[in-house]
Amino acid sequence: MLVNGAVAAGSQVAKTENPDRVRSLADTEQIRGSLQARYDELTAEYERAVAENQVLRLVEGGDTAGDDQVDSGTKTAERETAQYLILAILDRRVQFERALARLAEGTYGFCEGCAVPIPVERLEIFPSATSCVTCKQARERRAA
Ligand SMILES: [Zn+2]
Repeated sequence: MLVNGAVAAGSQVAKTENPDRVRSLADTEQIRGSLQARYDELTAEYERAVAENQVLRLVEGGDTAGDDQVDSGTKTAERETAQYLILAILDRRVQFERALARLAEGTYGFCEGCAVPIPVERLEIFPSATSCVTCKQARERRAA
């Protein structure tokens, strides 16, 4: 696992920040493996979603003649949901792509914004995270 045994009793303050932690080559390989696996899963999900969306379109193309308003409204909503899903998958896949690129160049695990090491606990939950919580929240505030 990524968590080392360094979080000793009495070091509660340093729990989320662990700048002295040096990642071993084995850790890096393990991270790369899980990022790549997740990336491949998202690729498969994306292809499945695209295929389903095409099926949906083919079905629609065939029987629009007898549709009433409600039917076609439902189909539009379905199509929008499918497209939203596809975009969401692509978005997540890009995050893993970036995480893999950063791992390759040796900057994975460090915040893009302020360069502090991202807490290992955070990376375990969000392996594709490329910024610390503080920078992420600051960015979200700016975007809002
Ligand atoms: Zn930061």
